[in-house]
Amino acid sequence: MSAPRLEVDLAKVEDNARMLVTRLAAKGISVTAVTKATLGAPAVARCVLRAGASGIGESRIENAEALRQAGIESPITLIRSPMPSQAERVVATAEVSCNTELDVVSALSRAARSAGVTHGIVVMVELGDLREGVMPEDLVDTARCVVQFPNLRLHGIGTNLACRSGVVPDRTKMAELSALASAVEATTATKLAVVSGGNSANLTWALGDEPKGRIDDLRIGEAILLGCEPLHRVPIEGLHTDAFALVAEVIESKVKPAQPSGDRAQSAFGDVAPGTRRGEVAQTLFAVGRQDTDPDGLVAPAEMEILGASSDHLVVDTGRVLAPGTEISFRPNYSALVRAMTSPFVAKAYLPMTEDGLGGAR
Ligand SMILES: *Cc1c(COP(=O)(O)O)cnc(C)c1O
Repeated sequence: MSAPRLEVDLAKVEDNARMLVTRLAAKGISVTAVTKATLGAPAVARCVLRAGASGIGESRIENAEALRQAGIESPITLIRSPMPSQAERVVATAEVSCNTELDVVSALSRAARSAGVTHGIVVMVELGDLREGVMPEDLVDTARCVVQFPNLRLHGIGTNLACRSGVVPDRTKMAELSALASAVEATTATKLAVVSGGNSANLTWALGDEPKGRIDDLRIGEAILLGCEPLHRVPIEGLHTDAFALVAEVIESKVKPAQPSGDRAQSAFGDVAPGTRRGEVAQTLFAVGRQDTDPDGLVAPAEMEILGASSDHLVVDTGRVLAPGTEISFRPNYSALVRAMTSPFVAKAYLPMTEDGLGGAR
């Protein structure tokens, strides 16, 4: 098999999704499974849908289109505000999109009208993380405008925390969103289909004993794929944290001094703190680098230590010299996963084939 490659254990992804769907269902919360980190891999989408996700969340229309082309028929929500220039593609592919600008909503209304469809709008509200969202005091007015547009339906409201600034989606923030949901319903005389409380960072709150109020949906990506919650990157009990492995191949392995020799200035990627090691190390080069992944987001096997990386090389203390051609698996965090998925140099291997024979890389 070619290297580097990202191995995806679909059975583990499906287990994780089922576990979260089941636990959240007990709290009255459905799961919109977010596949963006896999570039909308149909094999992953099939797993999470089989596990009971109510639909797919995608940030990019290209990924949503890839899912449709592969035959995925579940509802798709575009979770990043559409670009006005993509309005036609959005209404053609996604039932629902998350929105914060009436100009975009207007473009979607026009596109939906000419396509003869009704498009659902989730209005996102800013609750302090300072990424997307209308200010809370403007939400009701925005929702009142949305319901006036032809060929649109006010599908729900949502918020997104812990993304840009790490603001915690706690009881207070969720109560605020619940109150806003009720205010929007009262002034628009609309029953909201979803009140979408957030992402994987909401799981501590959602799985805990706090009252859930009006929150009935979460958009979950990282926890399904990597089995951990993103606030403290702690594994969630009962979930697999090893569904993904980045396999890299040795191209050089030699005993070398631990310390560089000669006058030192900047390295290819800026300043490097001098290592503290003395003596010698079994230094191994793997043919994978910053162009393929985020080396700072890789975890090496227990007996090894990552020493550095450049565009094309990962430098690892492997404890012993390894033969060129040897393959070693590294565990990617979310950042390393996203970049490996996106790199054309990294092969994707979906393991194993699912029972229905429809899994696998497509
Ligand atoms: C990426 C994203 C999600 C999913 O986040 P995870 O941390 O992967 O669960 C949810 N909502 C929005 C708006 C996003 O951009």
